[in-house]
Amino acid sequence: AEAQLAQAQKMEAVGQLTGGIAHDFNNMLAVVVGGLDLARRKIAQRPAEAGVHLDGAMEGADRAAALTRRLLSFARAEPLLPAAIQPAKLVTGMDLLLDRTLGERIAVHVDVTRAQWPIWTDAHQLENAILNLAVNARDAMDGAGRLDIQVADETIAAGAPGDLAAGDYVRISVTDTGCGMSKAVLARAFEPFFTTKPVGKGTGLGLSQIFGFVRQSRGDVRVESEVGKGTTISLYLPRYHGGLSELGAVEPSKAAKAR
Ligand code: ADP
Repeated sequence: AEAQLAQAQKMEAVGQLTGGIAHDFNNMLAVVVGGLDLARRKIAQRPAEAGVHLDGAMEGADRAAALTRRLLSFARAEPLLPAAIQPAKLVTGMDLLLDRTLGERIAVHVDVTRAQWPIWTDAHQLENAILNLAVNARDAMDGAGRLDIQVADETIAAGAPGDLAAGDYVRISVTDTGCGMSKAVLARAFEPFFTTKPVGKGTGLGLSQIFGFVRQSRGDVRVESEVGKGTTISLYLPRYHGGLSELGAVEPSKAAKAR
């Protein structure tokens, strides 16, 4: 029954999403049609005015095209190219990138001392996911604060709460000292296109993409957030049990010592 409820909620979210997009798209089409109609009426007597209406139509068409482009890139999720990787090493390797992304007024702390296990995933997409979480954290902190990234091995027991099957996982947690999320925002944060950011700044696709990627890797995402205090988002990715020889260039012992 719980699974059915979750499915029903998902369908409702998809319904709201497609309804919202159809509505936006219709508004843009109305601008195009209206502009063309006015231009047609003016074209014989006042060609200059017709031009203005044609420009308006063009703008509406451009916006509609931008919307469908965004939809397409969202639907065409990149294929996973998984390999055995050492998450501790991947995260410590993002040092410079994170410092540059977060700016001088946000202190970045990385702790990988409790991470030894390898995982089987797409390294590029995992980096993107972490970077997206860091950018969200930066936005939530309004430029100043502290960002903690922790990578740690974690065993989930049978019957533990949450969606994870019992077993070994690597948890990657990103914690910020930002504004936090209200219950209402938290309830919708993972919906595609849900954003509280101004137009042009947020796409509302970051968290939904991360969720899709982590679920594809048979993991899960957990969120703890308190308004005015901050947010922790944790990615759980299953431990890889294959032979260490498949790890290639990765040296497990180094990652633990790196910080
Ligand atoms: P976007 O960042 O483009 O808005 P996301 O899907 O990444 O899209 O996030 C959706 C919304 O969730 C954000 O607009 C914001 O309201 C909220 N959110 C995400 N991460 C955080 C965070 N670390 N702290 C506070 N709010 C957050």
